[in-house]
Amino acid sequence: MIKANNPSLQSWIKVEKNSDFPIQNLPFGIFKSIEKDKKPRVGSIIGNTVIDLSALAHEGYFNKCNFSTQVFKSSSLNDFMALGKKVCADVRNTLSDLFEKNNASLRDNAEINSKVLYPIDRVELLLPIKINDYTDFYSSKEHATNVGSMFRDPANALLPNWKHIPIGYHGRASSIVVSGTKFHRPKGQIKPQDAEAPIFVPTRSLDFELEMAFTTCNATKLGESISIAESEDHIWGLMLFNDWSARDMQTWEYVPLGPFLAKSFASSVSPWVVTLDALEPFRTKGPEQDVKVLPYLEFSGNKNFNINLEVYIKAQDKEPFKVCTSNFKYMYWNMSQQLAHQTSNGCNINVGDLYASGTISGPTPDSYGSMLELTWRGTKPLKLADGSERKFINDHDTVIMKGFAENELTRIGFGEVKNKVLSAL
Ligand code: CA
Repeated sequence: MIKANNPSLQSWIKVEKNSDFPIQNLPFGIFKSIEKDKKPRVGSIIGNTVIDLSALAHEGYFNKCNFSTQVFKSSSLNDFMALGKKVCADVRNTLSDLFEKNNASLRDNAEINSKVLYPIDRVELLLPIKINDYTDFYSSKEHATNVGSMFRDPANALLPNWKHIPIGYHGRASSIVVSGTKFHRPKGQIKPQDAEAPIFVPTRSLDFELEMAFTTCNATKLGESISIAESEDHIWGLMLFNDWSARDMQTWEYVPLGPFLAKSFASSVSPWVVTLDALEPFRTKGPEQDVKVLPYLEFSGNKNFNINLEVYIKAQDKEPFKVCTSNFKYMYWNMSQQLAHQTSNGCNINVGDLYASGTISGPTPDSYGSMLELTWRGTKPLKLADGSERKFINDHDTVIMKGFAENELTRIGFGEVKNKVLSAL
């Protein structure tokens, strides 16, 4: 067992029941104090308290660790991640010791405490990674089946390649934003069914896609491939991911090369990167792959993770209303297969690449991870608690995604990714 994951540990920092961030989690992010004139730096979190790792380093608390703590004075996690998963594990173990309830060294030092700890409402959480490249997969069988049924043929919903290849496309990194960022409804070409020619208007079918994304911590050389066996050495941590989509633009533009502007106007991530180490207790078997895969995609052991996922729509001045309950374990293709496939042609990867799962839909209608599926292309509108209906996402709606892994001993959460849609410019 990873030492920092010990479920019996408790912290001297207050952690409320059902907190996403007990001492066993220790995710990493980038934050900035809203009060002091300080630059962005690397932080972690326990309960509702943000820990400044650069200030801890300044006080000498990482002296026993064998790396340059300059990486904590950064506006992204990339330099820290580039040190590899062993250093990340050392940092988690150091934090775990330091904040354990019986360790008095920092606990009883009020002066240093005030320099390294921040209440969550006194900081701004920033985009945690400088994202170099971004790939979006299409790895939920239920999602692919639903979309194939709607747009093509229910009898042949999955295309012939789907169970042989983790399907994906290269997305746009520049417009990936952190939770809290507001964005305007995108405009684009759509072709209404009764129109002869396309028109250029704000999208009429703005959608979310419930996804998770992992980030990589090593660069490979052009020509190198990552085997399934090595894949998890490269997967540093995970975030919640909302791959915002404009369905009417997508329908018109996607043939023959796939998604383009219907996806590139905004995607959003949660601010805390939860390490693969912290998720270790939540490994589980994935869906059975009933078509034999090629040898480079064969894997052993449990490569899926049991992470509960939820989506809420919050209308302006109203309470959030839950519209979807899904789980990361439903992914047909796992992260190791995705990374092995991504690099199987010799494509090099970098520190801070982002690999999104694709919409994570489960088997039941309330577990579908997009409005497209939940309302079945707008034919079955959802009714929110205030009585209003949604086929897709309205202006001034906020979409909130939450994620947490939980067993009888521990809850490891992701917090949320929450973004408000403004009217088109
Ligand atoms: Ca997607």
